[in-house]
Amino acid sequence: MNKATHVALHRPDASRPDGAARAEAADHAGSGAPAGDAATTAGSNFIRQIIAEDNANSTYGGRVVTRFPPEPNGYLHYGHAKSIVLNFGLAAENGGTCHLRFDDTNPLKEDVEYEDSIADSVRWLGYDWGTHRYHASDYYDVLYAFAEWFVEQGLAYVDSQSADELRATRGTLTQPGVAGPYRDRSVGENLDLLRRMRAGEFPDGAHVLRLRIDMASPNVNLRDPVIYRIRHARHHRTGDRWCIYPLYDYTHCISDALERVTHSICTLEFQDHRPLYDWVIGKLADGGRLQRPLPHQYEFARLNLTYVVLSKRKLLQLVDEGHVDGWDDPRMPTLVGARRRGFTPAGFRLFAERIGVSKSDSWIDMSVLEETMRDELNASTERRMAVLDPIRLVIENYPDDATEECFAPNHPQQPELGRRALPFSRELWIERDDFAETPPKGYFRLSPGAEVRLRYAYIVRCTGFEKDADGNVTLVRCTYDAATRSGTAGADARKVKGNVQWLSIAHARRAEVRLYDRLFRMPFPGARTTGGEGAPDGEPAPRHVVAVAGEETDAAEDREHTFLDDLNPESKRVITAFVEPALAAALPEERVQFERHGYFVADLVDHRAERPVFNRTVTLRDPWARRNG
Ligand code: ATP
Ligand code: MG
Repeated sequence: MNKATHVALHRPDASRPDGAARAEAADHAGSGAPAGDAATTAGSNFIRQIIAEDNANSTYGGRVVTRFPPEPNGYLHYGHAKSIVLNFGLAAENGGTCHLRFDDTNPLKEDVEYEDSIADSVRWLGYDWGTHRYHASDYYDVLYAFAEWFVEQGLAYVDSQSADELRATRGTLTQPGVAGPYRDRSVGENLDLLRRMRAGEFPDGAHVLRLRIDMASPNVNLRDPVIYRIRHARHHRTGDRWCIYPLYDYTHCISDALERVTHSICTLEFQDHRPLYDWVIGKLADGGRLQRPLPHQYEFARLNLTYVVLSKRKLLQLVDEGHVDGWDDPRMPTLVGARRRGFTPAGFRLFAERIGVSKSDSWIDMSVLEETMRDELNASTERRMAVLDPIRLVIENYPDDATEECFAPNHPQQPELGRRALPFSRELWIERDDFAETPPKGYFRLSPGAEVRLRYAYIVRCTGFEKDADGNVTLVRCTYDAATRSGTAGADARKVKGNVQWLSIAHARRAEVRLYDRLFRMPFPGARTTGGEGAPDGEPAPRHVVAVAGEETDAAEDREHTFLDDLNPESKRVITAFVEPALAAALPEERVQFERHGYFVADLVDHRAERPVFNRTVTLRDPWARRNG
């Protein structure tokens, strides 16, 4: 037996005080709470409190400046959305500013293509950096000048050990590091070497520049960290101007300080780097090189979400190996994918608010994100009719050549959104599962002899049906009662329980409909878990669940099991369906609810009036909840 991976799974919705009310509102087909309601129930956010205290104490004179610092080496994903909403959101609610800063210190992996996409995604989420779009590479000159200053102060030195030697002398978590043979070079020699490094006199790896802090520090990050390395590589912005590049820890804190950032918010793995962050800018401020008050770094738990992977490496692999249709495949957890899926910026902002911000790692269940999108879409989308699995319904006593208009409200709770005309005629499409030859108990839709209302139209009685050679129903016959038209005096004279969607065959439009579902069928893709049974609460979350190989597992089997094995083979199904005529005129990216089926969006790329294409964003109810018990 495999040992289960135990993780803390958070479903903030269920524990919220208004959980019961929202459970009722979850019948999205009919009712729903206004979007404003949901937004008022926020998860806790300790950084919000810190900023409030800083403002109260005037730590920064009331200024609030945050930044979002992506490395332009990939597309943004759902996890970045959490960080974006946090940084831009906190700045906005405090009348502050949030900078978009590209952290472009690694010339080998970065590209402008990524920069453009990142900026687009931030804007799509609803945020604006104004004039504050920066690059770490904007600061290369000043970073270098500061490096010379550190050398002059005796606080940095050029180390000429090999990479292996550097590793060997750095020590371990339990053992202190040891000083290398170059630690006591003179200031003059260090300056000369640094300038020659910069001038391109040495090959990659010949020397590095290190801060001179403490080789015996219990914090490995303070053991004379490397701040510059030689790399003869072209940078996408600075070209061939530099052949030495600063490292993240040195660059980031100085960039923050130069931009006069107040609250520098990052994920938990940087917690042990904070002493270095403070050391670097503290020394520079002491030396009059930077202005106080200095920025302060705060760490929060990154978003871990079930049923997806958020690692850039794995996302790249999904695209490169063709498991998905590109970065913006609606199943991809990228923001470009989310957009094509039909997820909304408001939904992401609401999601970030609901999950809150904490300092301890946990997992959020995918159903929380999906439910948030449902809540948001329920309020923001108009209703439309679509028949996804059609069979023909013939109304035998309706005139052959007649057409009339029925009227359907665009939103059940928002009459101000008006109504639209639906053409009605003798032959209609209805859903295959709205007819049963032998109805099961509690079935209120069409079956021989049964009466239903054709939604927004008439009451009909089923008089017969036809089947093909394979036993599939091909046609259902009925008669209608002309006195029961919706909206007329006779409509309520007779009560029927069933309500059936329909589309006039003569008027319906054919559409390609892409039914998307979760990309992975297991909550922790690649992990050997009991996934399907759900993970028990209350256990510490694994930082990275990749493979859990325990004594009791078959190690060989584990090694072969990767996240790709957990791809959901049913994550995309393409069908031809019928939609009401008005939907052909939908604009790309227009979002609607197909009554009873879910939320859909006209595809951003492929949708055309002549050839409508709709993507399913999310179903009306969570089919996974049932599957997982
Ligand atoms: P890399 O391994 O390339 O550094 P990254 O996911 O950290 O990958 P960055 O471009 O450096 O990507 O991230 C930009 C910002 O987004 C950082 O501040 C990072 O902490 C934050 N971020 C990244 N992943 C998540 C996540 N899952 N949840 C919340 N914030 C995240
Ligand atoms: Mg990073």
